[in-house]
Amino acid sequence: MRIVQKFGGTSVGSPERIEAVADIVRKATELCHEVVVVVSAMGDTTDELIALAHQIDPRPSARELDALMATGEQVSAALVAIALQKRAIKARSLTGWQAGVATEPVHGAARVSSIAAEKLEQVLADGEVPVVTGFQGIAGGEITTLGRGGSDTSAVALAAVLKADLCEIYTDVTGVFTTDPRLVAAARKLPQVSYDEMLELANLGAQVLHPRAVENAKQFGVPLVVRSSFTDEEGTVIVDGNNLEQRHVVTGIAFEPEVARVALIGVAVQRHGLAAVFTALARAGVNVDVIVQSVVQSAEVDVSFTVKEEDADLTLGIVRGLRDELGYRDLVCESGLAKVSIVGAGMISNPGVAAQMFQALADLDIPIRMVSTSEIKVSCIIPAAHMEASVLRLHAEFLESEARVAANS
Ligand code: ADP
Ligand code: ASP
Ligand code: MG
Repeated sequence: MRIVQKFGGTSVGSPERIEAVADIVRKATELCHEVVVVVSAMGDTTDELIALAHQIDPRPSARELDALMATGEQVSAALVAIALQKRAIKARSLTGWQAGVATEPVHGAARVSSIAAEKLEQVLADGEVPVVTGFQGIAGGEITTLGRGGSDTSAVALAAVLKADLCEIYTDVTGVFTTDPRLVAAARKLPQVSYDEMLELANLGAQVLHPRAVENAKQFGVPLVVRSSFTDEEGTVIVDGNNLEQRHVVTGIAFEPEVARVALIGVAVQRHGLAAVFTALARAGVNVDVIVQSVVQSAEVDVSFTVKEEDADLTLGIVRGLRDELGYRDLVCESGLAKVSIVGAGMISNPGVAAQMFQALADLDIPIRMVSTSEIKVSCIIPAAHMEASVLRLHAEFLESEARVAANS
């Protein structure tokens, strides 16, 4: 059996943790598994490296930031290899480029474009454990990174290319929970969750898996497990939706702080300027999330959309620059917002779920600024000050109630 084992920042956060990781890898090799290890940077190293760059320049070049961030994973990969060698396990650390990970030529959030697996196959054939730096690759000779949390994606991409039988994501929680267990003490570990639900949860802010890791795992059929490097407890298996009996309506709750809403009031319909705004934002690398357009009068519409708070100034600059083209009357920006989402495959056949969510928020007197839905999720944009309270309430409403327990039993 061939497995990829990925260890996150906390799991390699100290020499002691690295020794513990080496013990987990040793166990797998003793079971005669062919093991490929993927590591994140130690603890908060990536944050610290970024802060270091910002001390010199608040807007460092994307190329150098990638070159800097990529060093974090190199430290942990070499240390894990050393810890394995100490245990008489042949191991070799490899950077992204040494492992053949090619990406798009983009800095900061590059997608993996291909992986030349020969090098890793050779290392495995030599009976060595490759310890690969997550989060990084190479494009035209330049070091690139895959976006924050991207080591999960490195692991899944390697598992897909190497046709691994399993990709294990080792982290600091025992699996995927109904919501972030750091915020909600009553959160429960899910024994299994479907790729689609996991993709929504990850995209909507559940940090436990990088969204593109789930996307790739689904696309390439990589069996994925999330588990803890601190205990032996069984983790969460990410499964094909078809295997799931959809007994529960809501599977999990995700949340994302630091959202800003930009509203263009009185946009002249006949000018067709909206495409120009969203094209310009996309070119500037601004991710637009929820978009709502409403007709006020036949000749005018109001358009509002959300962006990350950190992109709000850039967004306003772009929208102001297009004022003539758009012909809007007023421009409003509201920051200090958050997005709270409920996710569950069972929602498709339960139209009352959105209403129940709105009522729960209304009971707490929480104003809802925007709503966005898909077949398996409902998201509300609310003031960030109410985020925690709303998550606690929604968890109690959908995931702790008697009715749900009865329905699931
Ligand atoms: P790693 O460094 O191992 O990649 P992350 O910090 O990226 O770890 O992800 C694990 C964290 O994700 C957990 O500590 C937890 O606080 C957070 N998290 C958010 N939502 C969930 C969820 N639904 N289930 C489990 N953990 C979650
Ligand atoms: N070290 C990188 C980060 O902190 C990648 C990862 O941990 O997955 O974002
Ligand atoms: Mg992570």
